[in-house]
Amino acid sequence: MSISLKNIIPVIGAKANIELATGIIDNVSIDSRSQQNNGRTLFFALVGPNHDAHVYINDLITKGVNSFVVNYIPDSINDKANFLVVENTLQALQNFAAYYRSLFNFPVIGITGSNGKTIVKEWLNFLLSPDYNIIRSPKSYNSQVGVPLSVIAINENHNLGIFEAGISTTGEMVYLQKVINPTIGILTNIGTAHDEGFVDISQKIKEKLRLFSDVEILIMNKNKTVQAFLKPEIKTFTWSTHDRNADVFCQIKSFENHSNLNLTYKKLCFSISIPFIDDASIENCMHCVLTMLYMHYNEETIQSRVSELFPVEMRLKVKNGINNCTLIDDSYSSDFQSLKIALDFLENQKQHKKRTLILSDIFQSGLSDEELYSRVSQLIISHKIKRVICIGETIVRYKSKFLNSIAFASTKDFIKAFDSLEFNNETILIKGSRQFEFENIVSLLEEKTHETVLEINLNAISHNLNYFKSKLKPKTKVMVMVKAFGYGSGSFEIAKLLSHHKVDYLGVAFADEGIELRKAGIELPIMVMNPEMTSFSSMIQYNLEPEIYSIRELKAFLKIADQKELVNYPIHIKINTGMNRLGFDTLVIPELVSILKGITSVKIKSILSHLASSDVSSHKEFTLTQISDFERDSSFIMKELKINPIRHICNTSGISNFPDAQYDMVRLGIGLYGVSNDEDEMLLLENVGTLKSVISQIRDINEGQSVGYSRRFIAENKTRVATVPIGYADGISRAWGNGVGYVVVNNQKAPIIGSICMDMLMVDVTGINCTEGTSVVIFGKDPSVVEIAKGIKTIPYEILTSISGRVKRVFYRE
Ligand SMILES: *Cc1c(COP(=O)(O)O)cnc(C)c1O
Repeated sequence: MSISLKNIIPVIGAKANIELATGIIDNVSIDSRSQQNNGRTLFFALVGPNHDAHVYINDLITKGVNSFVVNYIPDSINDKANFLVVENTLQALQNFAAYYRSLFNFPVIGITGSNGKTIVKEWLNFLLSPDYNIIRSPKSYNSQVGVPLSVIAINENHNLGIFEAGISTTGEMVYLQKVINPTIGILTNIGTAHDEGFVDISQKIKEKLRLFSDVEILIMNKNKTVQAFLKPEIKTFTWSTHDRNADVFCQIKSFENHSNLNLTYKKLCFSISIPFIDDASIENCMHCVLTMLYMHYNEETIQSRVSELFPVEMRLKVKNGINNCTLIDDSYSSDFQSLKIALDFLENQKQHKKRTLILSDIFQSGLSDEELYSRVSQLIISHKIKRVICIGETIVRYKSKFLNSIAFASTKDFIKAFDSLEFNNETILIKGSRQFEFENIVSLLEEKTHETVLEINLNAISHNLNYFKSKLKPKTKVMVMVKAFGYGSGSFEIAKLLSHHKVDYLGVAFADEGIELRKAGIELPIMVMNPEMTSFSSMIQYNLEPEIYSIRELKAFLKIADQKELVNYPIHIKINTGMNRLGFDTLVIPELVSILKGITSVKIKSILSHLASSDVSSHKEFTLTQISDFERDSSFIMKELKINPIRHICNTSGISNFPDAQYDMVRLGIGLYGVSNDEDEMLLLENVGTLKSVISQIRDINEGQSVGYSRRFIAENKTRVATVPIGYADGISRAWGNGVGYVVVNNQKAPIIGSICMDMLMVDVTGINCTEGTSVVIFGKDPSVVEIAKGIKTIPYEILTSISGRVKRVFYRE
């Protein structure tokens, strides 16, 4: 990209306030944290329900960015900059992208639908890349923001575009259509996903079809309901498994691990074989086949390429590596766009200073190799990568562009040399395209542990945080409780994500938990709920803020504060309003006030109390009394000491059920992990943790035979029994055994039979398609921890925090 600022002004309809010589823009950014921002960046200050990028403009100016598209010019700008003022920065970004798109005139495939968009896009990229320089949306960048950013990455050398468009409500597709302006349309499975934004299915279909208002051809599964909504001038190219009027008729034969599809198209009859048997994959594959037919590929090419289709892995996975390394596994694609995203992701992984990038040849950049690897080199420098390991015949030739690089012609050569290389205490980004088989490198570098893992979806945490933030008044601060190892999910990873989201406070139960976070580099303010007096000194050393709940504790802290000559050290005063756990009773508060009068060693940063029953509607009166007592006692302290601290009383269900008691801050806990006491609210949250294992052994037993200790299960019929290596020592309650609970194997319920053992449990998999090694879900979306908690008469908190430390936690992003 290379566009002068002057040309952009009319495109986005901006009022310009130009203070610096206007140069050329060669990239666009919306992320203030990106290391890729520079003097040639045009920064669009987007405003969302939970954030406003205008507040980062001064920071960005300091970092050298000087051109901004804004809704308003912020008050206190420290230095000169160019401002393009518009009414809506998101629309300006879309208009800019549509304009940029119009500068190019090659075929563009636009994909929408409810399911399968990303897979179809990735598969088409694989199928067509031998013949085209393709630009495609990175990962699943398909939103109102993601689509323009994807399109803006087009350059002169591309000759085919593949972009996906996702919408969640009406009125959105018009904009995406303008930005993508597809010439070939693909409608994937229309399904039932994201229905909540639409009144009914027909509204959803109509909205999706808007993407195709100007296509030459629309490729789709023949479907009368959908076609009824199509404008007659739109030409379709359809397939079907039952309607012989479709352009391509498809008959399916499925085998154990592949399917044969017999296709009839005009006079042509041929068959293809694909390595999948499920309906969704077959459907996605058919959309690709029709695209290839439309693009005049012959049957031999189609046959040979589709036989090599592969499952699409779209997640950037964070894993524990050998020698205390952290791995970021992106071992399935390597294009310039996704490298940028992965490097920004790496940037947010702050656990190690040292960073290594293992990178394969990059394909389809549309740039000359010289230019491409120069740009890669700049990226790597701006991201402060200590070491680059280049693998591939092309990248090896440009090795000298990278400081401190090691080069190998092939993955095999790297693996041969592996023992002579050192990896320790560093973050390693592994980024390579499929044919380099970097999964072999990942398995060498990965820490070896047993097969049971608790997968933590970091996107779901962000989603849930934003959900609760959207319920708060704009000024209300958020403290997130990460006590008990982040409710069992991993305190450090989660704290790091929360720092990234700029929450205001973290809360832990004990000083040790806070110290661990500090040692890992977490800089957010941290409140310690139950500080033991013996830990005061180290708390001060690590800048942890105590919750003070009694006169005895207050005196002890003041004593140490005096010895250390502290000034204004932040403390938090806890008032007991009915929980009767920790806190000052109303009667003691005058004494508290008299002790603190005139004291300068500490400063009351906040006053808090805790609701005992905010989740139980029948106790509403009680909760309202707690809130009014809090109001009275905190106001008294504030008046007497003439202070104006942060006040907070709401936990998760307090946020949902007592919106008038938000005060200045709320303390979010279980909600972050996707759990709510309210069934409707639960649907709006995303599941965070999925506990998985694999089947160790399968056997068939006959009627009358038993399973497990004390023979608590006796087979009434022939039964297929699978053993799963997870037991009560991993935190699975024995109450969940003996037919009460179940695990999920291949989307089907397998009841737990017999008693749960210390390290294993047995399930009934009769009639379920599985083998030894098949993956098993113990909890996640189904069964949810809420369901398990109900089944064994406890609360979700206990299920989450019981999962033992020996279960490996794996963090990932979609
Ligand atoms: C654990 C805790 C919270 C968070 O509670 P959730 O119900 O998980 O939201 C808030 N405040 C205090 C004092 C806590 O101990």
